[in-house]
Amino acid sequence: MAIVNLVTGGAGFIGSHLCEALLAKGQEVLCLDNFFTGRKDNIAHMLQNPKFELVRHDVINPILLEVDRIYNLACPASPVHYQYNPVKTIKTNVMGALNMLGLAKRVKARVLQASTSEVYGDPQVHPQVESYWGNVNPIGPRSCYDEGKRVAEALFFDYYMQNKVDIRIVRIFNTYGPRMLVNDGRVVSNFIVQALRGEPITIYGDGAQTRSFCYVSDLVDALVRMMETDDFTGPVNLGNPGEFTIRQLAEMVIELTESKSRIEFKPLPPNDPVRRKPDISLAREKLGWEPTVPLRDGLKPTIAYFDELLRKG
Ligand code: NAD
Ligand code: UDP
Repeated sequence: MAIVNLVTGGAGFIGSHLCEALLAKGQEVLCLDNFFTGRKDNIAHMLQNPKFELVRHDVINPILLEVDRIYNLACPASPVHYQYNPVKTIKTNVMGALNMLGLAKRVKARVLQASTSEVYGDPQVHPQVESYWGNVNPIGPRSCYDEGKRVAEALFFDYYMQNKVDIRIVRIFNTYGPRMLVNDGRVVSNFIVQALRGEPITIYGDGAQTRSFCYVSDLVDALVRMMETDDFTGPVNLGNPGEFTIRQLAEMVIELTESKSRIEFKPLPPNDPVRRKPDISLAREKLGWEPTVPLRDGLKPTIAYFDELLRKG
């Protein structure tokens, strides 16, 4: 019997790539999504596959399905989208985690939580290691996401300790690639769309803040490895340790798109982390994983994807 996977948020950016990777392994996929930031276009090509099924559902409500593995990715990831309705974001993170843990407990499934580098907040330890407890503002504009994900991690460990649920936690750092939304609001998609349209590239603050960008295929490989690894709950950092300033990213995008766009500086949003870079020693050791796609190489197919999308209009 093929392994049956539930992927919540499966119609989203990372989720749709994950569904593809699981189907390619011959496994079954139940893709669950409420289509807040997910799109049918992301999964349309999988609908004819008899091993793929789509369920329209909101994770804040319980659901009973017979599955072996649960990848809990449901949650908007872009600050623009998760701040649109912060209360809903917290509900998605907390009630979504509770519902997926309850399901995992009932059907004895292994359950993986897509946590985030945001649990480190504006980090005072650099690069970030899993043992660092973070520096998160509990009442800022990013709190609905950061604290929601922190509660989800706590719930995962409580179900593990109390109910012996087979959990996995990954802390995902900034990930990019094809299938991000044009209006996603995150930096890679914003810069590429602006460059292709010849609009000003909007750098928030002075652009000296740093991020580490992981290409989506590398990330999905790590998610599957984590799910398949026995006797390791995590949390484990997943990201590309290459660290770039936002200004460097803007310059690289302008160069690769051969754009005439100029750079425009805008105010830095509150609580914007100053530096971010994963220490991935643990992922290397436990999963035998490290990213293979450098930023410049990953930007090319991402630019090609947005170029085609914008031409279609
Ligand atoms: P995304 O917004 O493209 O995907 C999220 C998906 O979840 C969408 O399809 C959306 O419709 C769905 N969703 C949202 N709320 C839901 C709800 N209540 N019920 C059911 N479905 C719901 O974002 P993404 O970049 O693919 O991120 C996927 C996961 O990875 C998220 O949990 C995010 O927090 C995490 N993550 C992503 C990044 C990144 O850089 N992309 C970094 C850290 C963590
Ligand atoms: N950013 C920017 N211009 C944009 C969008 C984002 O300069 O148009 C900056 C943002 O202030 C942050 C970094 O790029 O410092 C990464 O932002 P993103 O929203 O992609 O992710 P996060 O802040 O959650 O890491």
